[in-house]
Amino acid sequence: MRNRRAALSAIAAAASLALTLTACGQSSEGGSEEDKGSAEGATIGIAMPTKSSERWIADGNNVKKDLESKGYKTQLVYGEDDPDQQVSQIENLITQGVRALIVAAIDNKSMNNVLQQAKDADIPVISYDRLILGTENVDYYASFDNEKVGELQGNYIVEKLGLKDGSEKGPFNIELFAGSNDDNNTRYFFQGAMNVLQPYIDKKQLVVRSKQTELNQVTTLRWDGGTAQKRMDDILTSAYKSERVDAVLSPYDGISIGILSALKSDDYGSKSKPLPVVTGQDAEVASVKSIIADQQSMTVYKDTRELAKVASNMVDAVLNDKKPEVNDTKTYDNGAKVVPAYLLEPVAVDKANYQETVVDSGYIKESDLK
Ligand code: BGC
Repeated sequence: MRNRRAALSAIAAAASLALTLTACGQSSEGGSEEDKGSAEGATIGIAMPTKSSERWIADGNNVKKDLESKGYKTQLVYGEDDPDQQVSQIENLITQGVRALIVAAIDNKSMNNVLQQAKDADIPVISYDRLILGTENVDYYASFDNEKVGELQGNYIVEKLGLKDGSEKGPFNIELFAGSNDDNNTRYFFQGAMNVLQPYIDKKQLVVRSKQTELNQVTTLRWDGGTAQKRMDDILTSAYKSERVDAVLSPYDGISIGILSALKSDDYGSKSKPLPVVTGQDAEVASVKSIIADQQSMTVYKDTRELAKVASNMVDAVLNDKKPEVNDTKTYDNGAKVVPAYLLEPVAVDKANYQETVVDSGYIKESDLK
Protein backbone atom coordinates (compact mmCIF):
# COMPACT_ATOMS: atom_id res chain seq x y z
CA MET A 1 0.00 0.00 0.00
CA ARG A 2 2.74 2.31 1.01
CA ASN A 3 4.62 1.54 -2.17
CA ARG A 4 1.51 1.98 -4.23
CA ARG A 5 0.87 5.38 -2.67
CA ALA A 6 4.46 6.38 -3.27
CA ALA A 7 4.19 5.21 -6.85
CA LEU A 8 0.92 7.10 -7.35
CA SER A 9 2.34 10.25 -5.93
CA ALA A 10 5.40 9.90 -8.14
CA ILE A 11 3.10 9.55 -11.14
CA ALA A 12 1.10 12.56 -10.02
CA ALA A 13 4.28 14.59 -9.58
CA ALA A 14 5.49 13.56 -13.04
CA ALA A 15 2.10 14.39 -14.55
CA SER A 16 2.04 17.77 -12.91
CA LEU A 17 5.56 18.47 -14.12
CA ALA A 18 4.50 17.46 -17.61
CA LEU A 19 1.50 19.78 -17.38
CA THR A 20 3.65 22.63 -16.17
CA LEU A 21 6.05 22.04 -19.03
CA THR A 22 3.15 21.95 -21.47
CA ALA A 23 1.61 25.09 -20.12
CA CYS A 24 4.82 27.05 -19.76
CA GLY A 25 6.72 25.95 -22.82
CA GLN A 26 10.12 27.42 -23.38
CA SER A 27 8.95 30.94 -23.42
CA SER A 28 5.46 31.22 -22.10
CA GLU A 29 4.04 32.93 -19.11
CA GLY A 30 1.00 31.77 -17.19
CA GLY A 31 -1.84 29.95 -18.97
CA SER A 32 -3.50 26.72 -18.02
CA GLU A 33 -4.94 23.54 -19.41
CA GLU A 34 -8.41 25.15 -19.36
CA ASP A 35 -7.32 27.19 -22.34
CA LYS A 36 -7.36 24.09 -24.53
CA GLY A 37 -10.80 24.62 -26.04
CA SER A 38 -10.24 28.17 -27.32
CA ALA A 39 -7.42 29.60 -29.35
CA GLU A 40 -6.66 32.14 -26.67
CA GLY A 41 -3.57 31.28 -24.69
CA ALA A 42 -2.93 28.15 -26.77
CA THR A 43 0.64 26.97 -27.19
CA ILE A 44 2.06 27.02 -30.71
CA GLY A 45 5.00 24.80 -31.64
CA ILE A 46 7.72 26.40 -33.75
CA ALA A 47 10.31 24.06 -35.31
CA MET A 48 13.31 25.78 -36.89
CA PRO A 49 16.14 24.03 -38.74
CA THR A 50 19.38 25.31 -37.25
CA LYS A 51 21.02 27.97 -35.15
CA SER A 52 24.10 27.88 -37.35
CA SER A 53 22.73 30.65 -39.52
CA GLU A 54 21.57 34.04 -38.28
CA ARG A 55 18.42 34.10 -40.27
CA TRP A 56 16.87 31.12 -38.51
CA ILE A 57 17.66 32.54 -35.10
CA ALA A 58 15.90 35.74 -36.13
CA ASP A 59 13.01 33.78 -37.66
CA GLY A 60 12.48 31.79 -34.47
CA ASN A 61 12.58 34.87 -32.25
CA ASN A 62 10.33 36.89 -34.51
CA VAL A 63 7.66 34.19 -34.83
CA LYS A 64 7.74 33.72 -31.06
CA LYS A 65 7.40 37.46 -30.44
CA ASP A 66 4.54 37.87 -32.91
CA LEU A 67 2.59 34.94 -31.52
CA GLU A 68 3.13 36.07 -27.96
CA SER A 69 1.91 39.54 -28.87
CA LYS A 70 -1.32 37.90 -30.03
CA GLY A 71 -1.69 36.16 -26.67
CA TYR A 72 -0.32 32.74 -27.57
CA LYS A 73 2.31 30.78 -25.76
CA THR A 74 5.15 29.25 -27.75
CA GLN A 75 7.52 26.34 -27.79
CA LEU A 76 10.52 27.05 -30.02
CA VAL A 77 12.86 24.21 -30.99
CA TYR A 78 15.88 23.99 -33.29
CA GLY A 79 16.76 20.73 -35.07
CA GLU A 80 20.45 21.55 -35.56
CA ASP A 81 20.32 20.39 -39.16
CA ASP A 82 19.54 16.81 -38.16
CA PRO A 83 16.28 15.66 -39.82
CA ASP A 84 15.67 12.84 -37.29
CA GLN A 85 16.14 15.20 -34.39
CA GLN A 86 13.69 17.65 -35.92
CA VAL A 87 11.06 14.94 -36.43
CA SER A 88 11.33 13.80 -32.82
CA GLN A 89 11.15 17.40 -31.63
CA ILE A 90 7.89 17.80 -33.54
CA GLU A 91 6.59 14.54 -32.09
CA ASN A 92 7.30 15.95 -28.65
CA LEU A 93 5.49 19.16 -29.45
CA ILE A 94 2.45 17.15 -30.56
CA THR A 95 2.56 15.05 -27.38
CA GLN A 96 2.76 18.21 -25.33
CA GLY A 97 -0.49 19.39 -26.86
CA VAL A 98 0.50 22.33 -29.06
CA ARG A 99 -2.50 23.70 -30.95
CA ALA A 100 -0.67 24.53 -34.19
CA LEU A 101 2.73 23.94 -35.72
CA ILE A 102 5.01 26.23 -37.72
CA VAL A 103 7.72 24.15 -39.34
CA ALA A 104 10.81 25.14 -41.33
CA ALA A 105 11.87 21.66 -42.39
CA ILE A 106 15.42 20.37 -42.58
CA ASP A 107 14.53 17.54 -44.93
CA ASN A 108 11.33 18.39 -46.78
CA LYS A 109 10.54 14.75 -47.40
CA SER A 110 10.94 13.44 -43.86
CA MET A 111 7.70 14.73 -42.41
CA ASN A 112 5.00 12.31 -43.59
CA ASN A 113 4.63 10.29 -40.41
CA VAL A 114 4.95 13.08 -37.95
CA LEU A 115 2.51 15.28 -39.85
CA GLN A 116 0.02 12.41 -39.93
CA GLN A 117 0.29 12.44 -36.14
CA ALA A 118 -0.40 16.18 -36.23
CA LYS A 119 -3.41 15.63 -38.46
CA ASP A 120 -4.75 12.90 -36.15
CA ALA A 121 -4.44 15.32 -33.25
CA ASP A 122 -6.18 18.04 -35.29
CA ILE A 123 -3.13 20.30 -35.29
CA PRO A 124 -2.86 22.62 -38.30
CA VAL A 125 0.57 22.94 -39.91
CA ILE A 126 2.15 25.97 -41.53
CA SER A 127 5.13 25.17 -43.72
CA TYR A 128 7.58 27.98 -43.01
CA ASP A 129 9.90 29.28 -45.74
CA ARG A 130 10.60 25.75 -47.08
CA LEU A 131 7.76 23.72 -48.54
CA ILE A 132 7.17 20.32 -46.91
CA LEU A 133 6.72 17.71 -49.62
CA GLY A 134 4.72 14.56 -50.19
CA THR A 135 2.00 14.99 -47.57
CA GLU A 136 -1.51 16.43 -47.60
CA ASN A 137 -1.08 17.43 -44.00
CA VAL A 138 0.32 20.86 -44.69
CA ASP A 139 -2.31 23.57 -44.44
CA TYR A 140 -0.53 26.71 -45.60
CA TYR A 141 2.85 27.84 -46.86
CA ALA A 142 4.51 31.13 -45.87
CA SER A 143 7.58 32.03 -47.88
CA PHE A 144 9.22 34.40 -50.34
CA ASP A 145 9.01 34.24 -54.09
CA ASN A 146 11.80 31.67 -54.27
CA GLU A 147 12.21 31.65 -58.02
CA LYS A 148 12.56 35.42 -57.93
CA VAL A 149 15.46 35.03 -55.47
CA GLY A 150 17.36 33.06 -58.13
CA GLU A 151 16.40 35.55 -60.84
CA LEU A 152 17.78 38.43 -58.78
CA GLN A 153 21.07 36.54 -58.40
CA GLY A 154 21.22 35.65 -62.11
CA ASN A 155 20.32 39.16 -63.20
CA TYR A 156 22.98 40.67 -60.99
CA ILE A 157 25.66 38.53 -62.63
CA VAL A 158 24.45 39.34 -66.13
CA GLU A 159 24.33 43.04 -65.37
CA LYS A 160 27.73 43.23 -63.68
CA LEU A 161 29.40 41.37 -66.54
CA GLY A 162 27.79 43.82 -68.95
CA LEU A 163 25.88 41.13 -70.83
CA LYS A 164 22.48 42.76 -70.70
CA ASP A 165 20.65 44.28 -73.63
CA GLY A 166 22.08 42.25 -76.45
CA SER A 167 25.73 43.00 -75.68
CA GLU A 168 28.02 40.44 -77.32
CA LYS A 169 30.60 40.66 -74.54
CA GLY A 170 32.33 37.57 -73.25
CA PRO A 171 33.05 34.77 -73.00
CA PHE A 172 33.14 34.96 -69.21
CA ASN A 173 33.79 32.03 -66.93
CA ILE A 174 31.16 31.23 -64.36
CA GLU A 175 30.71 28.49 -61.74
CA LEU A 176 27.39 27.44 -60.26
CA PHE A 177 26.50 26.53 -56.70
CA ALA A 178 23.12 25.47 -55.34
CA GLY A 179 21.72 24.80 -51.87
CA SER A 180 20.94 21.58 -50.05
CA ASN A 181 19.28 18.91 -52.17
CA ASP A 182 16.79 18.06 -49.40
CA ASP A 183 15.48 21.63 -49.32
CA ASN A 184 12.68 22.27 -51.80
CA ASN A 185 13.74 25.91 -52.15
CA THR A 186 17.00 24.83 -53.72
CA ARG A 187 15.48 23.94 -57.05
CA TYR A 188 13.44 27.14 -57.18
CA PHE A 189 16.48 29.31 -56.50
CA PHE A 190 18.52 27.41 -59.09
CA GLN A 191 15.73 27.42 -61.65
CA GLY A 192 15.23 31.16 -61.22
CA ALA A 193 18.94 31.85 -61.71
CA MET A 194 19.23 29.49 -64.67
CA ASN A 195 16.22 31.08 -66.37
CA VAL A 196 18.43 34.14 -66.64
CA LEU A 197 21.86 32.53 -67.12
CA GLN A 198 21.10 29.61 -69.45
CA PRO A 199 20.57 31.70 -72.60
CA TYR A 200 24.05 33.20 -72.13
CA ILE A 201 25.54 29.74 -71.53
CA ASP A 202 23.83 28.57 -74.72
CA LYS A 203 25.32 31.53 -76.63
CA LYS A 204 28.72 30.74 -75.05
CA GLN A 205 28.96 34.21 -73.55
CA LEU A 206 29.09 32.37 -70.24
CA VAL A 207 31.25 29.27 -69.93
CA VAL A 208 31.14 26.80 -67.04
CA ARG A 209 34.68 25.42 -67.20
CA SER A 210 34.04 22.72 -64.59
CA LYS A 211 31.20 21.52 -66.81
CA GLN A 212 29.12 21.07 -63.67
CA THR A 213 25.83 22.56 -64.75
CA GLU A 214 23.15 20.14 -63.58
CA LEU A 215 21.45 20.77 -60.26
CA ASN A 216 22.54 17.41 -58.85
CA GLN A 217 26.19 18.28 -59.61
CA VAL A 218 26.15 21.63 -57.86
CA THR A 219 24.15 21.18 -54.64
CA THR A 220 25.68 21.81 -51.20
CA LEU A 221 24.46 19.48 -48.48
CA ARG A 222 22.87 21.41 -45.57
CA TRP A 223 24.01 24.67 -47.16
CA ASP A 224 27.40 24.16 -45.56
CA GLY A 225 30.00 26.86 -46.29
CA GLY A 226 32.93 24.48 -45.69
CA THR A 227 31.55 22.03 -48.25
CA ALA A 228 31.22 24.84 -50.77
CA GLN A 229 34.75 26.05 -50.04
CA LYS A 230 36.12 22.59 -50.73
CA ARG A 231 34.19 22.30 -53.98
CA MET A 232 35.41 25.74 -55.12
CA ASP A 233 38.99 24.76 -54.21
CA ASP A 234 38.68 21.62 -56.30
CA ILE A 235 37.20 23.49 -59.24
CA LEU A 236 39.92 26.15 -59.15
CA THR A 237 42.60 23.46 -59.13
CA SER A 238 41.12 21.37 -61.89
CA ALA A 239 39.51 23.86 -64.28
CA TYR A 240 41.28 27.19 -63.76
CA LYS A 241 44.97 26.52 -64.17
CA SER A 242 45.48 29.41 -66.56
CA GLU A 243 41.99 30.88 -66.72
CA ARG A 244 40.15 33.22 -64.36
CA VAL A 245 36.70 32.76 -62.94
CA ASP A 246 34.57 35.87 -63.54
CA ALA A 247 31.38 35.02 -61.66
CA VAL A 248 30.10 32.52 -59.11
CA LEU A 249 26.41 31.88 -58.60
CA SER A 250 26.03 31.30 -54.87
CA PRO A 251 22.59 30.71 -53.37
CA TYR A 252 23.30 31.66 -49.75
CA ASP A 253 25.64 33.94 -47.81
CA GLY A 254 27.24 31.13 -45.78
CA ILE A 255 28.14 29.40 -49.04
CA SER A 256 29.39 32.69 -50.52
CA ILE A 257 31.76 33.17 -47.60
CA GLY A 258 33.14 29.65 -48.18
CA ILE A 259 33.57 30.33 -51.89
CA LEU A 260 35.34 33.63 -51.17
CA SER A 261 37.77 31.86 -48.83
CA ALA A 262 38.68 29.42 -51.59
CA LEU A 263 39.13 32.28 -54.04
CA LYS A 264 41.31 34.27 -51.65
CA SER A 265 43.51 31.25 -51.00
CA ASP A 266 44.03 31.15 -54.75
CA ASP A 267 45.19 34.79 -54.73
CA TYR A 268 42.00 36.31 -56.05
CA GLY A 269 41.35 39.79 -54.71
CA SER A 270 44.24 41.73 -56.19
CA LYS A 271 44.39 44.27 -59.05
CA SER A 272 45.72 41.70 -61.47
CA LYS A 273 43.36 38.99 -60.27
CA PRO A 274 40.17 40.66 -59.05
CA LEU A 275 37.51 38.69 -57.23
CA PRO A 276 34.69 37.42 -59.41
CA VAL A 277 31.09 38.56 -59.03
CA VAL A 278 29.77 36.45 -56.13
CA THR A 279 26.07 36.40 -55.27
CA GLY A 280 24.41 35.41 -51.98
CA GLN A 281 21.20 35.39 -50.00
CA ASP A 282 19.90 36.34 -46.55
CA ALA A 283 21.74 39.61 -45.85
CA GLU A 284 23.72 38.04 -43.03
CA VAL A 285 25.96 40.44 -41.14
CA ALA A 286 29.21 38.77 -42.28
CA SER A 287 28.12 39.03 -45.89
CA VAL A 288 26.93 42.61 -45.70
CA LYS A 289 30.33 43.46 -44.20
CA SER A 290 31.96 41.54 -47.03
CA ILE A 291 29.88 43.54 -49.54
CA ILE A 292 30.98 46.79 -47.92
CA ALA A 293 34.59 45.55 -48.18
CA ASP A 294 34.14 44.90 -51.94
CA GLN A 295 34.40 41.13 -51.64
CA GLN A 296 30.99 39.48 -51.91
CA SER A 297 29.09 41.38 -54.61
CA MET A 298 25.48 41.11 -53.55
CA THR A 299 23.01 39.32 -51.35
CA VAL A 300 19.26 38.83 -51.47
CA TYR A 301 17.45 40.41 -48.56
CA LYS A 302 14.36 38.64 -47.34
CA ASP A 303 12.77 40.48 -44.44
CA THR A 304 12.19 37.56 -42.09
CA ARG A 305 10.30 39.88 -39.73
CA GLU A 306 7.58 40.05 -42.39
CA LEU A 307 7.66 36.30 -42.93
CA ALA A 308 7.21 35.73 -39.20
CA LYS A 309 4.17 38.01 -39.28
CA VAL A 310 2.65 36.14 -42.20
CA ALA A 311 3.09 32.79 -40.45
CA SER A 312 1.73 34.02 -37.11
CA ASN A 313 -1.27 35.60 -38.83
CA MET A 314 -1.93 32.29 -40.58
CA VAL A 315 -1.93 30.42 -37.27
CA ASP A 316 -4.15 33.03 -35.66
CA ALA A 317 -6.64 32.88 -38.54
CA VAL A 318 -6.79 29.07 -38.66
CA LEU A 319 -7.26 28.75 -34.91
CA ASN A 320 -10.08 31.28 -35.06
CA ASP A 321 -11.82 29.53 -37.95
CA LYS A 322 -10.92 32.29 -40.39
CA LYS A 323 -9.26 31.94 -43.77
CA PRO A 324 -5.63 33.10 -43.74
CA GLU A 325 -4.60 35.60 -46.38
CA VAL A 326 -2.84 33.93 -49.32
CA ASN A 327 -1.57 35.37 -52.60
CA ASP A 328 -0.58 32.22 -54.50
CA THR A 329 -2.72 29.15 -54.97
CA LYS A 330 -0.94 27.65 -57.99
CA THR A 331 2.83 27.47 -57.68
CA TYR A 332 3.57 25.27 -54.72
CA ASP A 333 2.53 21.72 -55.50
CA ASN A 334 4.09 19.50 -52.86
CA GLY A 335 3.30 16.26 -54.68
CA ALA A 336 0.19 15.60 -52.61
CA LYS A 337 -1.58 18.94 -53.04
CA VAL A 338 -1.08 22.51 -54.10
CA VAL A 339 -0.41 24.29 -50.84
CA PRO A 340 -1.99 27.76 -50.61
CA ALA A 341 0.81 30.21 -50.05
CA TYR A 342 1.62 33.75 -49.10
CA LEU A 343 4.80 34.82 -50.86
CA LEU A 344 6.81 37.90 -49.97
CA GLU A 345 9.14 39.81 -52.30
CA PRO A 346 12.90 39.39 -52.05
CA VAL A 347 15.18 42.39 -52.68
CA ALA A 348 18.66 42.47 -54.28
CA VAL A 349 21.20 44.26 -52.08
CA ASP A 350 24.70 45.45 -52.91
CA LYS A 351 27.06 48.18 -51.78
CA ALA A 352 24.93 50.84 -53.45
CA ASN A 353 21.70 50.14 -51.55
CA TYR A 354 22.56 48.19 -48.39
CA GLN A 355 22.09 51.28 -46.25
CA GLU A 356 18.52 52.01 -47.32
CA THR A 357 17.45 48.36 -47.56
CA VAL A 358 18.90 46.52 -44.58
CA VAL A 359 20.16 49.26 -42.25
CA ASP A 360 17.50 51.97 -42.48
CA SER A 361 14.79 49.32 -42.19
CA GLY A 362 16.33 48.23 -38.89
CA TYR A 363 17.07 44.70 -40.14
CA ILE A 364 20.75 45.07 -39.30
CA LYS A 365 22.13 47.55 -36.78
CA GLU A 366 24.66 49.95 -38.24
CA SER A 367 26.94 49.20 -35.28
CA ASP A 368 27.01 45.48 -36.20
CA LEU A 369 28.59 46.38 -39.51
CA LYS A 370 31.56 48.17 -37.93
C1 BGC B 1 16.16 29.63 -47.20
C2 BGC B 1 17.29 30.58 -47.42
C3 BGC B 1 18.51 30.14 -46.66
C4 BGC B 1 18.80 28.68 -46.84
C5 BGC B 1 19.92 28.21 -45.93
C6 BGC B 1 16.61 28.24 -47.51
O1 BGC B 1 15.57 27.35 -47.38
O2 BGC B 1 15.07 30.00 -48.00
O3 BGC B 1 16.91 31.86 -47.03
O4 BGC B 1 19.61 30.84 -47.16
O5 BGC B 1 17.66 27.91 -46.61
O6 BGC B 1 19.58 28.37 -44.60
